[in-house]
Amino acid sequence: MPILKIQKNISLAPLTTFKIGGPAKYFVEVSDEEALLEALQFAKENNLEIFVLGGGSNILISDDGFDGLVIKIQDARYKIQENKIEVSAGASLSSVVNLAMQNSLSGLEWASGIPGTVGGAIRGNAGIPLGCMADNAESVEVIKVQPLVSQRLNLRKSECKFAYRNSIFKENKDLIIISAVLKLEKGDQEEINNKIKEIIKKRSDTVHPNPKKPSSGSFFKNPKVENQELINRFEKDTGQKAIDSKIPAGWLIDEVGLRGKKIGGAAVSEKHANFVVNVGNAKAQDIVMLSSVIKMKVRDELGVQLQEEVQYVGF
Ligand SMILES: Cc1cc2nc3c(=O)[nH]c(=O)nc-3n(C[C@H](O)[C@H](O)[C@H](O)COP(=O)(O)OP(=O)(O)OC[C@H]3O[C@@H](n4cnc5c(N)ncnc54)[C@H](O)[C@@H]3O)c2cc1C
Repeated sequence: MPILKIQKNISLAPLTTFKIGGPAKYFVEVSDEEALLEALQFAKENNLEIFVLGGGSNILISDDGFDGLVIKIQDARYKIQENKIEVSAGASLSSVVNLAMQNSLSGLEWASGIPGTVGGAIRGNAGIPLGCMADNAESVEVIKVQPLVSQRLNLRKSECKFAYRNSIFKENKDLIIISAVLKLEKGDQEEINNKIKEIIKKRSDTVHPNPKKPSSGSFFKNPKVENQELINRFEKDTGQKAIDSKIPAGWLIDEVGLRGKKIGGAAVSEKHANFVVNVGNAKAQDIVMLSSVIKMKVRDELGVQLQEEVQYVGF
């Protein structure tokens, strides 16, 4: 029986890629299912709201922190069987990309360079235009948090309701991912490795801000646009197709002239306009205000409503 180390008043900023946010009232790291169940029991007994933390790379924590129990999923376990990898939720996505490459398994190269854990990636159906978690996930093991006894469930891919940056896990806060089976295919190790290097280079050349400017990745989802004139303008300007009538949020933000816009310690990245960056001791409030300005300007000038991809926690 593991002994849970529940800590009080733990600063969350260092546990996020934004490096922003106040403390967790209670905080615990869990490295297996038993510890997770114990943590859930503690929350129930003390009537605490829970927040499950992975790599902290898709969230903005409020300056007041989180007034409940933050459960950090910390486990990293892998099992390879032929062309499948079973991986625990706390493993980093990049460690699975590497493991797949080392075992000449192809199909996960698209995920190279995306920070965070497997659990966080499954929940948000993380991806890029080349691929997303839904392409690889075969099944997902979860703990369903229930008032009486929490239950372990195995969901097949078809039950996960994956969609663009969405899944059943995003819709249901009571589902905590504990592991997933990812399906890949046999490939050539050198080719896989070259592809990984190519993707990482492209990301660092064109997307990722300087590591000294922390962020939470793409701040807004790419919206579906109805205005055909705007779609034509985007396609003519970039030479790209607006697949499913979706236009990159970064292009829209650029169109309204907000690249580089600063409020307090928050700024729109100079490198990629859909990245909001912390340029020095930003408060969560600075990020929220900048986000409001972006949404208002894009709505007023282009008639498009942006929606945050980054999740606000503790607001
Ligand atoms: C520089 C940078 C580049 C990025 N590029 C991309 C990209 O190309 N594509 C992309 O899709 N994303 C990208 N992101 C965003 C982010 O990396 C992904 O969304 C990532 O999958 C989030 O995983 P995480 O473990 O960090 O989740 P967290 O930020 O810790 O959590 C996000 C949400 O998932 C929930 N969660 C976490 N673990 C679990 C679990 N085990 N069970 C249930 N819920 C859970 C949390 O409660 C929270 O609601 C980028 C981020 C950065 C900083």
